[in-house]
Amino acid sequence: MSLFTKFEGLAAVGAELAQSGTSPVGVPMRRIISPTRAEVDGREVILAGTNNYLGLTMDRDSIDAGHAALENEGTGTTGSRMANGTYDSHLALEREIADLYGMHQAIVFTTGYQSNLGTIATLAGPDDILIIDADSHASIYDAAKLSSARVFRFRHNDADNLAKRLGRLGDEAKQCLVVVEGIYSMLGDQAPLAEMVAATKEHGASLLVDEAHSLGVMGHRGCGLAEELGLLDQIDFITGTFSKSVGTVGGFCVSPHPELAWVRNAMRAYIFTASASPANIASSRVALRKLRDGTDLRDRLWTNARRLHKALSDMGLQVGPQASPIVAVMLQSREETLNSWHTLLDQGVYVNLVVPPAANLNLLRCSVSAAHTEADIDNIIAAYQVVANQLSAVEDAEPVG
Ligand code: PMP
Repeated sequence: MSLFTKFEGLAAVGAELAQSGTSPVGVPMRRIISPTRAEVDGREVILAGTNNYLGLTMDRDSIDAGHAALENEGTGTTGSRMANGTYDSHLALEREIADLYGMHQAIVFTTGYQSNLGTIATLAGPDDILIIDADSHASIYDAAKLSSARVFRFRHNDADNLAKRLGRLGDEAKQCLVVVEGIYSMLGDQAPLAEMVAATKEHGASLLVDEAHSLGVMGHRGCGLAEELGLLDQIDFITGTFSKSVGTVGGFCVSPHPELAWVRNAMRAYIFTASASPANIASSRVALRKLRDGTDLRDRLWTNARRLHKALSDMGLQVGPQASPIVAVMLQSREETLNSWHTLLDQGVYVNLVVPPAANLNLLRCSVSAAHTEADIDNIIAAYQVVANQLSAVEDAEPVG
């Protein structure tokens, strides 16, 4: 036994993945050509697994703002928000996020992961209860570990199950923080938010929605699922990330509760890490404005998303339950998923490979962008058709019974 013994399983999976040629783990993007194109393994591929939902990573204005901040304010802040790492631009971004949501308080974090860690682990203290969806993102699970609250899970997207859990707590439900996501990152399904709001309100609990994958994607101003459903005034805390539709790095928590102003100074993921670089903040501010005004981008994104979801479903592939910019195909085994991932890459399409232990499913996870052209979507569909043909050829060859 050594410190490394427990990683032997992981090493075996890594070796198996690497054996088949280009390893899908940490694929090197040799040259970035555009938000939807890069060179992988010496050839140009369509990027269909980047979460770059609005294609803003190469927005000219966002890049120019980043350049100017780099020139004027330097490469980094060299300090945490609580020490020397709060510049005027961090505060301006917080005001802009609060305004976007029409809420009182906003806190900017260095990543979305830290937004969840800081907000959830700090709000839910030793006398409190944290109730999370069973399919929550790793950052929510890690926040639950870091929090000293009692933690319960409810069945994925099951508002009745949540209501039952809250009911069992009686008066203690008022000390409870419930955490859900707007769009879930693996299958692209949405939380039944109206029912979740009703359950938490009935029992006096607080509700946090992580809009990581719905920011920029849903709602007239791109605020996410809560805005889309007209529920913004019913939510206690919203967290989000800049690493997807905004096209930069960073995260935030926004809330109608003025008390959040002093909670921030108890958040370890805010206090004990350096703040985001000035260039990153400057680009994020410009990109957030584009996101707010980007109804055309959202229309294009959803046209692409619906088209791809329908085409893959019509091919007989097992896709997620609802159309979404995340189009996931569920497969039976790791081997089948890995082979299909290579087929897509051979056809010039990069998607995300998801296999256990990263998630409990074998998935080819595709994310579409407003920047994908109709021809790109045609090409992605054609590549999946090759996968679908291969899969049905294997099925036909298998003995029945
Ligand atoms: N929440 C969810 C639901 C996510 O999918 C992610 C990123 N994959 C995060 C939070 C963390 O965001 P970031 O990349 O900014 O750390």
